[in-house]
Amino acid sequence: MTNETWGQVREGLINRVGKNNYVTWIEPLKLSQLKNGVAQFEVPTSFFGDWVQRNFADHIRSQLMTAGAEVDRVEFAVCSATATARPAARPSAPTRAPRSRPHVEDDLCGAPLDPRFTFDSFVVGKPNELAHAAARRVAEGGPVTFNPLFLYGGVGLGKTHLMHAIAHELQTRRPELRVLYLSAEQFMYRFIQALRDKQVMDFKSLFRSVDVLMVDDVQFIAGKDSTQDEFFHTFNALVDQNKQIVISADRAPGEIKDLEDRIKSRLQCGLVVDLHPTDYELRLGILQQKAEYYRTQYQGLEISQGVLEFLAHRITTNVRVLEGALTRLFAFASLVGREITLDLTQDCLADILRASDRKLTIEEIQRKVAEHYNVRLSDMIGPKRLRTIARPRQVAMYLAKQLTSRSLPEIGRRFGGRDHTTIMHGVRKIEELKATDSQLADDLQLLKRLLQG
Ligand code: ADP
Ligand code: MG
Repeated sequence: MTNETWGQVREGLINRVGKNNYVTWIEPLKLSQLKNGVAQFEVPTSFFGDWVQRNFADHIRSQLMTAGAEVDRVEFAVCSATATARPAARPSAPTRAPRSRPHVEDDLCGAPLDPRFTFDSFVVGKPNELAHAAARRVAEGGPVTFNPLFLYGGVGLGKTHLMHAIAHELQTRRPELRVLYLSAEQFMYRFIQALRDKQVMDFKSLFRSVDVLMVDDVQFIAGKDSTQDEFFHTFNALVDQNKQIVISADRAPGEIKDLEDRIKSRLQCGLVVDLHPTDYELRLGILQQKAEYYRTQYQGLEISQGVLEFLAHRITTNVRVLEGALTRLFAFASLVGREITLDLTQDCLADILRASDRKLTIEEIQRKVAEHYNVRLSDMIGPKRLRTIARPRQVAMYLAKQLTSRSLPEIGRRFGGRDHTTIMHGVRKIEELKATDSQLADDLQLLKRLLQG
């Protein structure tokens, strides 16, 4: 079999591995040799080879056999011509048609994209519906409608997943676009390096030459003055050229402390979308999707709907924990050769289940609220009646009532031995105020998210 015939044979793999995987991992493979039962492919990097070996080697082998070849083994070797200087983010580049600007992506060096983070594998539910729709829109690569797209939400709710999905999709749909994805930390690191090496002009022109810029976890640059400054200029330059920008953070632009006001307001100019904490339906949906994957990985192992429902009920923290639980469950069950029952689940995941059972304490609420309003923890509990202290104290009382199952007298005791009527008054006051004071309503929402995240 030659590389040309392989070109036809491989198309049968689209259905098996999915379009995205096909474009990213299968198309770039070059068949260099097929003899003595060994099919050898050229790959651009050893990482690439490992990944394909681990995930697709069996598919490739059986596809070759279907086409009539004798194959016992599939091997991958790095080809020296393409092995250097190609970012992992664009593994499929070499097979694409020549571009108008050859080799341009070599200098971008974005962060590697996780091949699992695609739109196909992203489960949509009420809490992430809008974020998903906005990400899809950006991924179409059409004219820029909102700039930037600002995605925010707590840990593990899918911000990074959506950004990678946008990048993957754009690579397929609009391969000519220069898409750069990186974390804010990497942005800073590269900027500092450019300063040190006296290559700031190169840095600037590189960042100004991209078509789509995605910066993850932008809260990281808060308080880092010169990096913020540079980010601001890059941002403006790209917006002026009508280039798409996608940003993520763990909170809304206005809530990021130590971020300059001019940056905050620019970030708010586009579409700001919130990923809400998961609800039961979404968690169950995600579990079902992942379980499907594990069923094929661990052939013969079944997981019942009942166990999935149990997990969706009990693990409410974030999706990463949920995934970790499922991974461990399958690995454990297959190691010990047992069925996945509710009992086994409870044994195997005892620590995770206990952690997510953990009750929020009044002390934690007081600490977070004090931090948020910049008052001393001791003042929360102490007697001062100054408005600047009394209001945060009432916020903490309100949250304690809302988020814990403590009684008013119990809460009173934790607030320096106050009477339960004082607590009741505080709670009512905040309930009243939040209807008219939108700043307060926002504060409450943020605090709740931070405390429950
Ligand atoms: P964040 O960047 O918001 O902290 P990530 O994007 O890293 O979160 O997501 C954490 C993990 O949860 C990833 O493995 C991701 O694939 C998974 N995940 C989050 N949301 C979803 C979803 N809606 N559907 C499928 N997987 C999800
Ligand atoms: Mg992330």
